[in-house]
Amino acid sequence: MNEIKELIDRQRKYFERGITLDINFRINMLKVLKSAIIENEKLILRALKEDLNKSDFEGYETEIGIVLDEIGYIIKNLRYWTKPKRVKTPITQFISKSYIYSEPYGVTLIIAPWNYPFQLVMAPLIGSISAGNCSIIKPSEYSPNTSKIISKIISDNFEEEFIAVIEGGIEVNKALLEEKFDYIFFTGSVNVGKIVMEAASKHLTPITLELGGKSPCIVDEDADVELAAKRIVWGKFLNAGQTCVAPDYLYLHKNIKDDFIKNAIKFIKEFFGENPLKSEDYPRIVNIKHFNRLKNLLKDGDVLYGGDFNEEKLYIAPTIIDNITWEDSIMQEEIFGPILPILMFEKLDEVIKIVNIRPKPLALYYFSNNKEKQERVIREISFGGGCINDTIVHLATPYLPFGGVGNSGMGNYHGKASFDTFSHKKSVLKKSNLIDISLRYPPYKNKINLL
Ligand code: NAD
Repeated sequence: MNEIKELIDRQRKYFERGITLDINFRINMLKVLKSAIIENEKLILRALKEDLNKSDFEGYETEIGIVLDEIGYIIKNLRYWTKPKRVKTPITQFISKSYIYSEPYGVTLIIAPWNYPFQLVMAPLIGSISAGNCSIIKPSEYSPNTSKIISKIISDNFEEEFIAVIEGGIEVNKALLEEKFDYIFFTGSVNVGKIVMEAASKHLTPITLELGGKSPCIVDEDADVELAAKRIVWGKFLNAGQTCVAPDYLYLHKNIKDDFIKNAIKFIKEFFGENPLKSEDYPRIVNIKHFNRLKNLLKDGDVLYGGDFNEEKLYIAPTIIDNITWEDSIMQEEIFGPILPILMFEKLDEVIKIVNIRPKPLALYYFSNNKEKQERVIREISFGGGCINDTIVHLATPYLPFGGVGNSGMGNYHGKASFDTFSHKKSVLKKSNLIDISLRYPPYKNKINLL
């Protein structure tokens, strides 16, 4: 564990040399990262296949492609973002000019989960580099092959004093969290998020927490039911449901329930065939612990479709479950797997009320063609982010900051938000010496009448 201390020390010394303050340096490092990812594309895809049975298409679409787009967007805009921003100054400070400078924090720690093991390391790292920080990365031990290729890409292309990967399990995480960092970016579960926040508080380290929770998906009676079913089946069973923003449960309007279910089953068959175990495109559960957890959740309600599993292959079929209540165990925790429970509603008011008494979700999806109702849902429910008439895709754009609220996290990133997250905003007022208004100086006797 002394090695960790020593590494942080070396990174801090490197940071203090001011190398990372140079915008050209940052852009060059982002370009190096981009080339390294492109060069190692096949190895990354293979690692994703080995860890989660992700198809090459899904691996590219949800991991490599997103990361490359993010690098491209940030390189294009970085010179502009890093310029001090001139802002207005109140007349009382005449003659002055005011600026906001973005400065790097120093040495950052990035802790990532296993479900999008490449993207969720790289996207924060891009933010950290762009803002001029040194970074220590801790990938998840549950996706060891991706962890290994990340470690190789970083050590082959960057000095350890600038970016380093530390692999290992919880013990390593605990040791890292004992140390003082200048910023911590954590993606993972709510429970571990609390541990990270507590550890950060000991050093008053600022943090971003990208957490999870139960993300509702509501389909109203005036939705385009067939298209809704298609987009929900895609979003739910992407990565076999192991997606932080996956629709966790469905609220279906009574009038379209049967039609929706018929269509959802049609699309599961169309996407993954009659036997998804044989599909090249259907991922696996990450490990036996999560497999057993999910197998237990299959006991709730009535299975309408799917429900079968294969322990040896860590396979759980795309499953739809009906007759669920909020008392069932499947509604007590984030599902994080390919099981879609259904609740039914008659009035939108009921759904808004029920969702609002639960922890604020990371994502919310609402399907309806009624603009007024869309606005109601957006304004009356607090959630991290989401989509109207789609699922998941709000995170695949650099123009929208991505993050949670309440129990689903704090802070956000992607695009400009990543640069801002990893930068301290230093406010500076530059005063002229031409005039010096004496009102503010004591003695104040009678000056109050001049205010
Ligand atoms: P996790 O919280 O178990 O693990 C995340 C990281 O924390 C891993 O690197 C792990 O090694 C470390 N960790 C685990 N236990 C620890 C402990 N006691 N002390 C210190 N560190 C510890 O999460 P996970 O199972 O890898 O990922 C699933 C969770 O992450 C889900 O809740 C999901 O919603 C959430 N998630 C959120 C986002 C997002 O962007 N908001 C993205 C992906 C996943």
